[in-house]
Amino acid sequence: MKDLNFREGDAKTSIFGSNEMLKPSPVDRIPDAPTTPEIAYQMVKDETFAQTQPRLNLATFVTTYMDDYATKLMNEAININYIDETEYPRIAVMNAKCINIMANLWNSPEEEKWKSGALAIGSSEACMLGGVAAWLRWRKKRQAEGKPTDKPNFVISSGFQVVWEKFAQLWQIEMREVPLTLEKTTLDPVEALKMCDENTICIVPIEGVTWTGLNDDVEALDKALDEFNKKTGYDIPIHVDAASGGFILPFLDPHKKWDFRLKWVLSISTSGHKFGLVYPGLGWVVWKDKKYLPDEMSFSVNYLGANITQVGLNFSRPAAQILGQYYQFIRLGFQGYKAVQYNSMQITQYLHDEIGKMAPFVNYSDHVENPLFIWYMKPDYAKTAKWTLYDLQDKLKQGGWMVPAYTLPENIQNYVVMRIVVRQGFSRDMADMLLNDIRDAVASLEKLEYPTNTRIAQDKNIEVKGSVFTHTGNRHKTKK
Ligand SMILES: *Cc1c(COP(=O)(O)O)cnc(C)c1O
Repeated sequence: MKDLNFREGDAKTSIFGSNEMLKPSPVDRIPDAPTTPEIAYQMVKDETFAQTQPRLNLATFVTTYMDDYATKLMNEAININYIDETEYPRIAVMNAKCINIMANLWNSPEEEKWKSGALAIGSSEACMLGGVAAWLRWRKKRQAEGKPTDKPNFVISSGFQVVWEKFAQLWQIEMREVPLTLEKTTLDPVEALKMCDENTICIVPIEGVTWTGLNDDVEALDKALDEFNKKTGYDIPIHVDAASGGFILPFLDPHKKWDFRLKWVLSISTSGHKFGLVYPGLGWVVWKDKKYLPDEMSFSVNYLGANITQVGLNFSRPAAQILGQYYQFIRLGFQGYKAVQYNSMQITQYLHDEIGKMAPFVNYSDHVENPLFIWYMKPDYAKTAKWTLYDLQDKLKQGGWMVPAYTLPENIQNYVVMRIVVRQGFSRDMADMLLNDIRDAVASLEKLEYPTNTRIAQDKNIEVKGSVFTHTGNRHKTKK
């Protein structure tokens, strides 16, 4: 006989006593019937259950910790679309204030009350906007001179982040790469200038190179470029990709010149969601002056008590991140940012030193410039080791850590390295736990009797498909 009460009415049924928990989750088609919010929540939540805890993810640069008030503010603004400025004019003003603060952290000489800049979803959009502005300025000048504009190029080191490859592909602008080597670990200004010609729209040094954590020497580049421009009559500018460094240098190394204090630096981009300490997605781009932001890229709104310029690739975008950024500026202030970045750097330095002391490893650079660093296996050690850094990555994953192993860019692509990014939320205590896990993992790998698959593959120089060869740093894959 049918039990009329059996599972009638999901609202009364406990979540794990429901029909839904016996069914596979929808893959191809939308389910026909609704279910309760509790069941829907549980199913979605559980699908992400087995993932790494975000704060143990040492591969990402992106913020994984904000305090409760920031989180509350952002959650409360989750239903606000930034583009609806007429409805939320105060958020547009708050955005402009953030741009002002960024511009002044980077020593903007602009005298306008509202500095020229733009909100972005991340550095990717911010870099694109900086790149497009340089391209349009170059094109306008060439057109005025009656010269061809069909072969633009830009110059960058081979340590570029994947966004620059996208920029090159999507706008069809040739990317000229200055190779990195083990001796030249950052952009070489002399080599960069050799690649420049009348079609060069800009040079892009990087502060906080994704692959290595190092900074390109923008001051040296600016100086060499100034002479080069004088000699050739060009006026090639610099866009600084300061995705990480833009929020590190102003606080920890304010005397170092890499920003608008330099003559040819006309635009700078950064990620608010990296060391800007805001949850994703947030980026910023600032121009040295309004005149470097081509009119074609911007539209002006005048209902804010002044003309505010709006620029962007996306139309709708979340506003919560602006509240998060403005909150952090107020909450932390200059000294608070400095304290957070200082701690991240100290912990990076500690990890760098401790890993440098481990027998199998050698650090790529003997100094730390941003809260991240890479290391590789000592060539002598590697000769007899039965394992690779990919095996270490796998071992650490078992403890919940994500520490990526990847190959360096062209020229030095034979080097498999491992990278740690230290962000707010990573303490000395956690660093010690990680170091212990690394030591334990190495000890067990050293006991192996037979070489691992990746070891065999590496010796034969073949690519292994599958998880062990997920090159987190490979430019043809998603990279963070
Ligand atoms: C992370 C990064 C980017 C891309 O930034 P998103 O904020 O992730 O879009 C660009 N350039 C560099 C140097 C980066 O480190």
